[in-house]
Amino acid sequence: MRIGLPRALLYHYYYPLWKSLFEQLGVEIVISDITSKQLVQEGVKVTVPEICLPIKIFNGHIINLLSKEVDYIFIPRFIGVESGKWFCPKFIGLPELADYTIDGVKSKILTVDIQGKKESTCEWTNYRPLCEALQVTPKELKKALKTAERVWQHFRDCCKQGFTIEEAEKMCSEDMRGSERTAHHTHDITLGVLGYVYNVYDPFVSMDIIKKLHGMNVRVITFEMLDEKRIHEKFKRKSKNLYWTFTDKIYGAAVELMENHQIDGLIHITAFGCGPDSIVGKMMELDSEKFKKPFMTIRVDEHTGESHLLTRIEAFVDMIKRQKISERRRELA
Ligand code: SF4
Repeated sequence: MRIGLPRALLYHYYYPLWKSLFEQLGVEIVISDITSKQLVQEGVKVTVPEICLPIKIFNGHIINLLSKEVDYIFIPRFIGVESGKWFCPKFIGLPELADYTIDGVKSKILTVDIQGKKESTCEWTNYRPLCEALQVTPKELKKALKTAERVWQHFRDCCKQGFTIEEAEKMCSEDMRGSERTAHHTHDITLGVLGYVYNVYDPFVSMDIIKKLHGMNVRVITFEMLDEKRIHEKFKRKSKNLYWTFTDKIYGAAVELMENHQIDGLIHITAFGCGPDSIVGKMMELDSEKFKKPFMTIRVDEHTGESHLLTRIEAFVDMIKRQKISERRRELA
């Protein structure tokens, strides 16, 4: 059996888990192609214009998988992974969104409801519908979930050591060994890059911002590299809960990074049409004034040009580097 995984949305956070789980259950995984302009256009063509860019991209990946002769396309419905918090409504209605948007996908959708108290999502009841679809026993599923959870925890531990998601994924699949394992690039300044994993790590949306920043001698910290308890603590200090799991994490990470004197500035990457980001983006902007941290928002839509983005990033990085040099001079004078 061949199951397609759209290389979009929470694929960027849960791929090591899903890969381990499906492979143990004897399934061949087919991943959609890397996001390209053409793939985005395919998604844009079929999706309602008002919706956020990541959903249009997700639909582009589903169309891409339909051409790869898969038996199923895995579209989990993320509801909640901690009490009192929920996923953005687009995640809660994702299987229906795909069904009503793309012709011919209904019979291919393989879905599960992710609702529990573990970020790993590995409560076996979440994945129970796989038993019937994949013809496996509950015992086999539970065993596979245990191993998959261990693999995912290893991936998350790698992230928390400062590795990017791409590096951590490679380390989990053991493609990366020994001397290749270096999370600490030499750097002139350190920037926090905030945003959902499907924005920061999608090469079309972020235009490979992390690689670009590394090339400018900038050390990059993203939310998934931080300690979750600390992020949670930062968030608890606020009087109002935002209720959306990943939006809360990003805001908690922003506060953590703004309070850290080793962080020279923050970049928020957001996609056009995102409701939660319109709130959290403003909150971060206001906090950055309070903490006197340079802050830049990059809002991407399907028409954004790479050269324009690069110019803005270069200008932001140059400004911070110059500011640092003058501060050092003042200290020496
Ligand atoms: S959080 Fe924003 S970008 Fe993500 S799915 Fe919801 S609306 Fe779209």
